Amino acid sequence: NVSSKFSKRGYAVEMPKFDYKPPKYTGPSFEETMQTRKEYLTPALLTYYKNPIMIVDGKQQYLFDHEGNRYLDMFAGIVTVSVGHCHPTVTKAAIDQMNRLQHTTTIYLHPVIGEFGKKLAETFPKESNLKVVYFVNSGSEANDLAVMMARAYTGNFDFISLRNGYHGASGNSASLTALHTWKYPVPSDFGIKHTLNPDPYRGPFKSSDPEAGKKYAWHLKNLIEHSSPGAVAGFIAESIQGIGGTVELADGFLKEAYDIIRAHGGLCIADEVQTGFGRTGTNFWGFQNYGVTPDIVTMAKGIGNGAPLAAVVTTPEIAKTLSKRIHFNTYGGNPVSCAMGSAVLDVIRDEKIQQNAHDVGSIIKDGLNDLKKKYKVIGDVRGHGLMLGVELVRDHETLEPANTETAHVFEKAKEMGVLVGKGGLYGNCLRIKPPMCVTKEDAKFFLDVMDRSLASL
Ligand code: PLP
Repeated sequence: NVSSKFSKRGYAVEMPKFDYKPPKYTGPSFEETMQTRKEYLTPALLTYYKNPIMIVDGKQQYLFDHEGNRYLDMFAGIVTVSVGHCHPTVTKAAIDQMNRLQHTTTIYLHPVIGEFGKKLAETFPKESNLKVVYFVNSGSEANDLAVMMARAYTGNFDFISLRNGYHGASGNSASLTALHTWKYPVPSDFGIKHTLNPDPYRGPFKSSDPEAGKKYAWHLKNLIEHSSPGAVAGFIAESIQGIGGTVELADGFLKEAYDIIRAHGGLCIADEVQTGFGRTGTNFWGFQNYGVTPDIVTMAKGIGNGAPLAAVVTTPEIAKTLSKRIHFNTYGGNPVSCAMGSAVLDVIRDEKIQQNAHDVGSIIKDGLNDLKKKYKVIGDVRGHGLMLGVELVRDHETLEPANTETAHVFEKAKEMGVLVGKGGLYGNCLRIKPPMCVTKEDAKFFLDVMDRSLASL
């Protein structure tokens, strides 16, 4: 067992025991790595922590830095490592496929691509008819394709997304994104409009208002009526906004929004890049928690446990639109990525990962709500399963963001061996989205670290 060095740093808190010791790291030094990053990689990259960490090993829900220090990973490579770092089933699937054939495109038949497509289609409710799969390489690409599909199918151009949503960094997906941190002053957003975010915490209509969902939907209808020719190609939303700070949409909004969009000729797209693959605990797909059925679903991140893999799933009728032309993607359906994706689905089923997300997620959420009673700085605790967020504010009336306090808690948690994410429009939301194999003991440790980090404010 690798004992955590963190207790030696003056904190009484002990990490759960873990029977794994990573091999000694012998690669380029921390300083060399920092230097090459500064010199050769784009300055647009974000580096977490005042003193950045160099992560060189991972096992299940834990990460190890170059000195062998162990961290509880509560952010999963930005919500991507769904079933645990270096899961043996996923690793074996990748190695077996790599030894056999590393790449072929969809111009030839390959059994793994079709088999994985079938398994993926089977994760959707039968009555949804969501069963045609296009493989791409990233969430951005998936959303770009979804926009093209909806425009081609409906013959309409205008598209609606939510303010505070994140949908990617490429052409259409960057335009769908409406978070100022990610907006560049370059021509974009053609035909894309952003409606009022149905945020029951920060928006004008609060969770205490039973009509809030309807009121936000009214804004969406108003936007269509005033700024489109009266018809739209589609609407996209995350069922829980991820980068925007784990924001749950006002009750009833999604259902109303889907009705309005369909009445105006558009398709409804669920961006499941963060919320899919059982992460919300109760259902396999996030949209299922809100009683809606999308026409197109986009997914990435958790699909391949880190493999560069993403997909767009739609109905045969909508998919047919794109058959009028060829639509092709060199790496989309790469057999190694698909073998990993297929293994991920097996692990989720065999190891009851979704149930674990529900059970451990509930413990964490309850614990965070207890901390909310203890620390005034916690304004809101939200999310489902292992898609959780905590928003820190200085004032419960004005909701003044507690940025420095958030940064402090974030840094302190790291010093005690816990890595969380940060996000939200003001950078004052802690994002808790670990690999879904995280245990109840980890939850206890995490809550203890959060308690101590908050107490040190
Ligand atoms: N959609 C959502 C909800 C995301 O969180 C992200 C990335 O964080 C994307 C789309 C874009 O995915 P990618 O970074 O794989 O292009």
